[in-house]
Amino acid sequence: MSKHDQLTCHDILGSLGDYLDGNLRADLCEEIENHMRGCENCRVVVDTTSKTIYLYHHTAREVELPNGARERLFSALKLDDFILPKR
Ligand SMILES: [Zn+2]
Repeated sequence: MSKHDQLTCHDILGSLGDYLDGNLRADLCEEIENHMRGCENCRVVVDTTSKTIYLYHHTAREVELPNGARERLFSALKLDDFILPKR
């Protein structure tokens, strides 16, 4: 593997959606995990985000979230920049 600069927090957060969805290549997952070992900030964000996504998926089945609730939730967590898909 070619050597490259360590991932920045911004890189981590940008890949977080794919990471949590399991869509990220294994080597990138490893880099994210390496980064998180040394970065409490990203650990907290990943932890919060994964819980939020978990709750979202598991409550969505039983509770109809009002329009925009998901966006407000992510926005409140300041996750909207990197969680909401750019579609
Ligand atoms: Zn970080």
